Amino acid sequence: MKLNVETPERVIDINRLPLDKIEATLDGGLRIGATVRNTDLAHHPTVQRDYAVLSQAILSGASAQLRNMATTAGNLLQRTRCMYFRDTAMPCNKREPGTGCPAITGSNRMLAVLGASEHCIATNPSDMCVAMAALEATIHVQGPKGTRTIPIGDFHLLPGSTPNRETVLEPGDLITHVTLPPPVDGSRHAYLKLRDRASYEFALASAAVVITVAGGKVTRARIALGGVGTKPWRSPEGEAVLVGQDANRANFRKAGEAVMRDAKPQSENGFKIKLATSCLAHALHIATTG
Ligand SMILES: Cc1cc2nc3c(=O)[nH]c(=O)nc-3n(C[C@H](O)[C@H](O)[C@H](O)COP(=O)(O)OP(=O)(O)OC[C@H]3O[C@@H](n4cnc5c(N)ncnc54)[C@H](O)[C@@H]3O)c2cc1C
Ligand code: SF4
Repeated sequence: MKLNVETPERVIDINRLPLDKIEATLDGGLRIGATVRNTDLAHHPTVQRDYAVLSQAILSGASAQLRNMATTAGNLLQRTRCMYFRDTAMPCNKREPGTGCPAITGSNRMLAVLGASEHCIATNPSDMCVAMAALEATIHVQGPKGTRTIPIGDFHLLPGSTPNRETVLEPGDLITHVTLPPPVDGSRHAYLKLRDRASYEFALASAAVVITVAGGKVTRARIALGGVGTKPWRSPEGEAVLVGQDANRANFRKAGEAVMRDAKPQSENGFKIKLATSCLAHALHIATTG
């Protein structure tokens, strides 16, 4: 709004709605209200104990001041940092459908190598959402037609020919809360974020890992990548490579290669393919040995 990218006729303050609680659910999971601040979520004792990947992901994002204000629902809906999207003097299919995508022939070092289309190659910038993808979160929405639940994997849309549509939300929809399933016994968590500087910077590549190992073999794996996809990038292909195999560096690298197999580099961001492969492999190493 400050950059005039969005010019709403009316802005509604939802801060007074009773949506700022973090509570246990009856099935042993966690319910996170839409207006829970990122700081409160990251430092909540249950999150730190049972969903460490979420705490680590949030604390790797933005700055302490921003996290004190940013909300759970706001983070889910944050928009891309693509420089052309944020510059109203430039054409941009996401901001103004049909005007073109200057990033494809222009500055695209930070942009996506997975899930892009000929109409948009913008990266989803969130860290929190990557952890939520690995944790298989569910988004709860209240709208004009009632309430509904959306698995996080179905919440963000690929750009296709309509990059202006980023999520499945419809006009009038309000996110009320997010739920996490019960923690998996014995699972180990890690979030690793690689970026140009150590703080206050978006990911070039990041990896969220929730993995269970028994007798040296991987029995369950949930992995998601940030900084490389047009949406938070959960990878069943990478997970399938791991399950049943020895938990070692060679297999972690194979999983990384499987995740990035269909990656398509642009002129300036081919380095992200190797970087994301190593990022995931190292996150798996940290989770299983740390
Ligand atoms: C300089 C800077 C650096 C940052 N670095 C990072 C980073 O490294 N990693 C990272 O993950 N994030 C980063 N962020 C983003 C930050 O963490 C926040 O997530 C972001 O600002 C959005 O949170 P918010 O609560 O302020 O959302 P808002 O800006 O208030 O809302 C975003 C959108 O969501 C809509 N909305 C909000 N709540 C609801 C609801 N309940 N239902 C329906 N719609 C809703 C709003 O209408 C708006 O369209 C950065 C931000 C800045 C400014
Ligand atoms: S990558 Fe997407 S957001 Fe960036 S200029 Fe192209 S259409 Fe716009």
